[in-house]
Amino acid sequence: MEKIVALSKRRGFIFPSSEIYGGVGSTYDFGHYGVLLKGNVRGEWWRAMLSERDDIVALDSAILQHPRVWEASGHLTGFTDPMVDCRTCGRRFRADQLGELQCGRKPSKHPGEYEECSLTDARDFNLMFETTIGPVKESGATAYLRPETAQGIFINFKNVLQFSRKKPPFGIAQVGKSFRNEITPGNFIFRTREFEQMEMEFFVPPHDAERWFEYWLAERMRWYVELGIRPDHLRLRAHDPEELSHYSSATSDVEYLFPSTDSVGGARWSELEGIANRGDFDLTQHARHSGEKLDYFDQGSGERYVPHVIEPAAGADRATLAFLVDAYDEEVVAREGAGEGERRTVLRLHPRLAPVKVAVLPLVNRDAQPELAREVWRALRALVQAEYDDGGAIGRRYRRQDEIGTPYCVTIDHQSLDDRTVTVRDRDTLVQERLPIEGLPSELAARVAREWRSPKLGGES
Ligand code: ATP
Repeated sequence: MEKIVALSKRRGFIFPSSEIYGGVGSTYDFGHYGVLLKGNVRGEWWRAMLSERDDIVALDSAILQHPRVWEASGHLTGFTDPMVDCRTCGRRFRADQLGELQCGRKPSKHPGEYEECSLTDARDFNLMFETTIGPVKESGATAYLRPETAQGIFINFKNVLQFSRKKPPFGIAQVGKSFRNEITPGNFIFRTREFEQMEMEFFVPPHDAERWFEYWLAERMRWYVELGIRPDHLRLRAHDPEELSHYSSATSDVEYLFPSTDSVGGARWSELEGIANRGDFDLTQHARHSGEKLDYFDQGSGERYVPHVIEPAAGADRATLAFLVDAYDEEVVAREGAGEGERRTVLRLHPRLAPVKVAVLPLVNRDAQPELAREVWRALRALVQAEYDDGGAIGRRYRRQDEIGTPYCVTIDHQSLDDRTVTVRDRDTLVQERLPIEGLPSELAARVAREWRSPKLGGES
């Protein structure tokens, strides 16, 4: 994980936030390539939810909602984690994570010995951030930054039903920021206090809920694998009955084998996405608290019912981290243009996720090569995210593109000026082929869009 953190900073994916002021615990800023990468993760999620089907519609609800939303949803009283303090080192921990995390041990007066942790009893700590709506703090209304995007969907159920002419089974999808005052944030962007979720609530006739639950488990696993996550780094884990949230009759987590930055090190299975069968809990609660009818009248059967809800809830930042980790590779290769071996770092990202699809590089920064390269870049950028780079030795420019995961480098050389062909270098195989400039944008756009298997699985890139 430390390598990922270092590469993220060096190459402009993710920076610690407020760094010039010493940082502000576990918040991060996304740099240029991070914005493009997370944008592609979001884009692929929207593609799977909207473009590739016709039974889901989009929503973008407000972060600040009526405080009673959180009363109805149960967050005001129930969205807590058990917190313990260590009387020795003063740190705070989530009581249910003590097995994984270690209290900072304090050296005792006797050399080589440590005072053991002395923990307080666990008490409930509400994770919602409070704020005030209105200019005067004392007379303003208490509000909360949403801790999940889902409730914004439930409170719009009626609006969506009216305009969309959808009937169960149908879904409402949303991507947006959520906020949780986590007791122990950490492991880079795995757990932060401000993060982005990708959530979809799928409303189904009650008798069909189990079938749809199974369907979404399979669909969501497929999504990660199709986008290049190695299947042996991914698993589904069903919650034990005592682990289930108050609203859920069944939940399974998609887990990824995340490496860790903490003192324990190693890798451990951690939640990437939760898929829950929420029953009719949310609609029933909001109907009760708001006085609005939140049900569905099926004209075909003459039956009125409260739809049940299947929810795949993913994290955009956590998914981005998983894609980065899974793509990271180091290998020794023959240096391009020279003989001896050289170590290179490469992000083997799925081309659809890669922040830049094609880099256009004049071999030398003279002899009309930059002009032709810019012409090629202009043609390419109309179809794919393309970058022009003429700074420094060609080998170093290739390494830079490898580290941001660019699948193709197009190089303009002296021959290009004679016959209008270029070399196209493949990030994974390092094979260079000569292709005509004519037709290059559509050829490379097609290669980026086609199915892809990680070269680590022995497939073709
Ligand atoms: P955890 O058990 O890790 O605290 P959760 O079960 O509370 O997570 P959900 O409420 O199911 O998480 O949220 C759905 C998804 O949102 C998670 O699978 C994760 O990808 C993302 N997520 C939740 N909390 C955070 C956080 N603090 N930082 C980053 N992503 C988060």
